[in-house]
Amino acid sequence: MAVERTLSIIKPDATERNLTGKINTLFEDAGLRIVAQKRIHLSPAQAGKFYEVHAERPFFGELTEFMARSPVVVQVLEGEGAVAKNREVMGATNPAEADEGTVRKSFAQSIGENSVHGSDSAENAAIEIAFFFSGLELVG
Ligand code: ADP
Ligand code: MG
Repeated sequence: MAVERTLSIIKPDATERNLTGKINTLFEDAGLRIVAQKRIHLSPAQAGKFYEVHAERPFFGELTEFMARSPVVVQVLEGEGAVAKNREVMGATNPAEADEGTVRKSFAQSIGENSVHGSDSAENAAIEIAFFFSGLELVG
């Protein structure tokens, strides 16, 4: 499998509870390397732009308000099959359905406040990485 990069976000519910280090440990223990990382505070408009594919979903307003509530940590994870591996480490969107040991099973509070975002395809990963990072900020 090829070495890939994927975009990860540690969401407000997790930064509020000081869980950045614990979540990063799960990524690193799974063989994912954090090749870029920064803490930012999104505006509701920026959160809406990032999640614009969900603009028609009933939870869109709740989602953008939540993502702008507190700082987030945006990061680029690199590794063999990083897109799928990160989704495995994250667990299912709904923490009630997430496997034991996953980030969402361990830390998520609800289907909305579920601690992490991860790109769902290599194509979206490239778009999402470019949304937050310049090439100079990616240090492999
Ligand atoms: P994932 O983050 O697992 O890729 P989706 O892309 O389907 O999940 O949804 C994006 C985000 O929208 C979720 O991570 C979650 O924060 C929020 N979300 C999804 N479904 C719901 C829902 N039914 N109610 C509230 N928020 C939701
Ligand atoms: Mg998604």
